[in-house]
Order: sequence, then C-alpha cells, then structure tokens
Amino acid sequence: EGGIERHQYDVVVVGAGGAGLRAAIAAHEAGAETAIVCKSLLGKAHTVMAEGGIAAAMGNRWPEDNWEVHFRDTMRGGKMLNHWRMAQLHAQEAPERVMELEDWGALFDRTEDGLISQRDFGGHKYARLAHVGDRTGLEMIRTLQQRAVQVGIDVFMECTVTDLLKDDAGALSGVFGYWRETGRFVTIEAPAVVLATGGIGKSFKVTSNSWEYTGDGHALALRAGASLINMEFVQFHPTGMVWPPSVKGLLVTESVRGDGGILKNSEGKRFMFDYIPDFFKAETADTEEEADRWYDDKKNNRRPPELLPRDEVARAINSEIKAGRGSPHGGIYLDIASRRDPDFIRKRLPSMYHQFKELADVDITQEPMEIGPTCHYVMGGIEVDPDTELSSVTGLYAVGECSGGMHGSNRLGGNSLSDLLVFGRRAGEAAAAYVTGLAQRPVITDESVRAGEWSALTPFQVEGGDNPYTIQQELQQTMNDLVGIIRTAEELEQALVRIEELKQRAQQMSVEGHRQYNPGWHLALDLRNMLIVSESIAKAALARQESRGGHTRDDFPATDHEAWGHKNLVVRLDEAGTGVTLAEQALPEMPDELKTYFEET
Ligand code: FAD
Repeated sequence: EGGIERHQYDVVVVGAGGAGLRAAIAAHEAGAETAIVCKSLLGKAHTVMAEGGIAAAMGNRWPEDNWEVHFRDTMRGGKMLNHWRMAQLHAQEAPERVMELEDWGALFDRTEDGLISQRDFGGHKYARLAHVGDRTGLEMIRTLQQRAVQVGIDVFMECTVTDLLKDDAGALSGVFGYWRETGRFVTIEAPAVVLATGGIGKSFKVTSNSWEYTGDGHALALRAGASLINMEFVQFHPTGMVWPPSVKGLLVTESVRGDGGILKNSEGKRFMFDYIPDFFKAETADTEEEADRWYDDKKNNRRPPELLPRDEVARAINSEIKAGRGSPHGGIYLDIASRRDPDFIRKRLPSMYHQFKELADVDITQEPMEIGPTCHYVMGGIEVDPDTELSSVTGLYAVGECSGGMHGSNRLGGNSLSDLLVFGRRAGEAAAAYVTGLAQRPVITDESVRAGEWSALTPFQVEGGDNPYTIQQELQQTMNDLVGIIRTAEELEQALVRIEELKQRAQQMSVEGHRQYNPGWHLALDLRNMLIVSESIAKAALARQESRGGHTRDDFPATDHEAWGHKNLVVRLDEAGTGVTLAEQALPEMPDELKTYFEET
C-alpha cells in the first residue's frame, strides 16, 4: 500500500475538547510546533455539550467567595480523596482562566452590574458558575477553537489515535492512528504527547456521553506504561432523561435544580429532605421553607437538599425508584414548572425547554420532567504530576477528563470546565518546555509502526468471530447491571468474569468489508480500550470495601476513613499486557496550612 503518511511536530495533542484546545494553545504560545488530533469533527467534543457553566471563585455574586472556599468545597465534594495540590491550583487559577476566555471573545451572561454572572450548583457554597444560558460549553469551545485556528495550530480531524509509539530506548516518539474516512494510517512524530481524550461513558448502557467516549486515552496511557488512579469512581448524574427510550440517559442539566427545580416522587413528596447525610447536615436546609428562602437569601439560609453533591442525589433517586415510588417510565419527577414562571424557565434553560419539547413532547414550563440517574463522568484517570500534568511516562501528559486526581471520589458540577482550562494550559506549557530542553529527539521506528499496523488490522484477519457490536452491547449491559450506582462484591466478581470472557471473544472479533469508512472496524479498535478500562473500574470497585463519592457498596455502606480515607488505588498494565493489576498508594500529605480549612468538621 505504499508508505504511511508521516508528520512531525514538537507537541501532539490527542483530543479537541476544552482540555486539548487549551493545551495546544499554551504549547503553541510557548513556541512549540503543535498539532491537534481528534476522532470526530473539530468542535464536536464533550465540552461542547456542557450546559451549566465553569466554576471559578470570581466573587461576582458573593464577594465572600475566594479560592479557599472553592478549594474546600472541591475537597469535601470529592470526600477528601482529591489530590490537594490539584484542587488548590484549580481553585486558585480558575478565575484567571475564565477572564482570559472573555478576553478571547467569550460572551458570558452578565450580572446587573455588568460583571460575569455566576450561578448556583450542587456542592458549591456560593453561586460560582460562569455561564452562557445553558450552552456554556458551546461558547467555550467556540472561543478556544477560534483562537487555536487563528494562531495557526494544525488540526487532524476525524483521525483516531490507536497507539502511542516508542523508540528503541523506550522513549515516547509519537502517535499512530487512522483516518476515519479512508482507513489509511498516519504517524505523527513528536517527543511530547498530551492526552485529552475525555471520558469512558460508552462502556455503560445508560449514559449522557456520546459515541466517542470509549476511554481511549486511559487505555493508551496504560499500554504505554502509565498508571491510572481513582478508577472505581464513576459519576452517575442524578438527572438524565428516561423517556423515550431512544434518548434514555441524555443529560438534564443540574441548572434546573440550581435555578429552583425540585425532585418529587410518585406520591408528590419532595423526598430529598429524607436523604441528607450527616456530613452535609450543617450546611443543608431541613425544611422546605428554609430551602426555598435560600434562592433569594443565601446568607441567612442553608442550601436546598436537591443541591447536595451528585453522588448523594443520584443515590437518593435510586432508592426512591427501588422503593416503588418512581414515575411511569422508571424515573422520578423533576419539577420546575410549578416553581418558576414560563418566561424565566425559557430564558434560563432554553436548551432544556427545546430538548423536552422536541424529544419527549413535554413542556417543562407546564409539567414536571421524568428523570433518572445516568453515567456521566469518570473521576478516575491517568495519574499525573499536579503542576505539569506529566504522567509516569516521560513526554506523556494528560489533561481533562482522562486524567485523574483532581476530583477525588466525586466531581462537583462546573469543576470540569475549569479543570480543562487550568490544567490544559499547564500541560501545554510543560510539554513545550520539555521539548525545548531535549538534546536529542526520539524517532519513530519502522518496527513500532508495523506493530501499530498489525494490531489495527487484526480484526480483518479473523473469520467467523463475534461481531464487535454484540460484544459492545454485552459489555454495556454488564457495566450497567453489575458495576453501576450500587455495587456488591458478588456482582463485581461476576462482572470481572464476564469482562474476561468478553476480552477472550474480542481477540477473535471479525469485521466485514474494507478499511474505507468502516464503523464496525472502528468499534473493534475502540472495544479494546473499553474492555481494559471496564476491567480497571470493576477491579478497583471490588477492592475498595467502603462507600465514598461515586462508589457505593451495598455490602460496605459506610465511609471508612480509618481504612480507606488515606489511600488511592492505582491501576497498571499487567506483565502479560492483556489485563491490569491494582496497588494501594498513600494519598499525598496536605500541608498544615491547608488542613485548617477542614478543622471545624
Ligand atoms: P472532551 O471534550 O470529551 O473531548 C475529547 C476529545 O478527544 C474529542 O475531540 C474526541 O474526538 C477526542 N478523542 C477521543 N479519543 C480519541 C482518539 N483515540 N484519537 C483522537 N481523538 C480522540 N462539566 C462542567 O464543568 N460543567 C458543565 O456544565 C458540564 N455539563 C456537561 C453536560 C454533558 C451532556 C456532558 C456529557 C458533560 C458535561 N460536563 C460538564 C463534563 C464536561 O463537559 C467534560 O468532562 C469535559 O468537557 C471533558 O473535556 P475534555 O477536554 O477532557 O474532553
């Protein structure tokens, strides 16, 4: 087939969501020749789907807000498992990153005084999310994309990276991938690679994530020798659509609750008051009157329980449905119609209004929505150095949802968009600095390219094997049923057995047809990633014998600070290279001056 298309850069960024774009801009500004590779069209990343906003303690609504309060909220939301240094940098730098977006042309909603408006979200003490209606991600991606293209960063669109390449000495030398359209292979030589591939949601049946989120970055990093942390922590967003079936899992933004929406069961009861955990009692209203007053007077009232962190709300909804108090389609009711007037709803939540009108024929200004939990976000990801986002592999950086540590066991809403900006910039700068300092650049060897080709083409060599769609469906069902919101040892063990079987079958998958635009083949390649990521989640979930944040064990319902409050589970590729191993690792020690923020609790 002739030679493979080859390119050369200083830094290659895999992923064009907020994290990838921000990293690329920073690398470029630091003088590095930079390319971005993305699996789908530029602009079509998860980031674009983000609705609620970007969390940053700018203090525009509440002058009392500052990085210390944001840091504290983030750590408490993550049940203290976050890497303290990441949470600190994130809280300190998020306001600058938002202001910079504005300098680059982002048009945020304003306060009456003309400042960037900030809205309430779960787990944040003060109204803190900078937003553009409920289309914040769209504005963010538009701004970053424009900037990236303007400064002349090259973009490889609809190009999927399937392998990270290394030279003979084991140094990272670039990436190997294929063009979706032609199926032709391409290599990009670069001493530094920034992974910004987003999440893993497609391993679950009910999810708010789109087809791209197959954990590619997680798996690429593992196979290159990097470690993953926090993999047992998967965030189930409390409010996804449950009806009609074709859109089951589609996100209903938390802003509905931030703007006054409440949760009710089939008996019409506002049930969240029954589910306030001790950990959050002091800051949560215990009567409807106080909760309702809070929207206008936050100083003298405590927050409504509907705005507890996501893990708490998702579990409560799950319990109500299980207890037989669900809605006709197996969800629960989210009601803003009876709480706010139609104009307010249409203005603040335009996308939600249209989403329900068009997809479910429900007018959310008149009737409640039916909603239920949906797999939304993975806290777990590639373990990185907090200041530079460097993984344990020299030259390999990771940012955004595919990295781990920042959010601990549970991410607060709005803290992802800010995470992308803060750490995207840091990673881009660090990657560029690393390349500048290199005396000699690793080169892509023919052998590594052949290995990439060989492994990508394997599914064409097999005849009569399973079809990748069958394996994907079984994996999604397994993860949903056995590694979902509520977990037990027995079910997790079963899940691991099934994943092992699926891995065996996946080695014998066959795909039909040619390399030109062949979604079956693409899925076959994605599946390898989905399987190893699913195994990582299930193994870590089985090992962690407690409930904390996004990980709930029915057989270990308590949060066990003594046994589990001071360590992470780390996942690495096993010796055979086909599965993963787990190890425990002590959490980094928080400096004393930061500890003082948590003393009163
Ligand atoms: P993404 O934006 O997911 O981008 C990943 C990129 O990687 C894409 O360009 C993709 O094509 C590319 N890619 C993946 N694999 C490969 C590969 N193998 N080769 C090449 N390219 C690849 N967070 C908030 O803070 N506030 C919100 O209001 C909010 N709302 C949300 C609403 C929805 C519906 C969803 C799904 C998420 C929401 N989140 C929100 C979470 C947040 O949007 C994501 O966590 C975040 O956008 C992830 O950004 P990222 O840059 O890490 O990756």
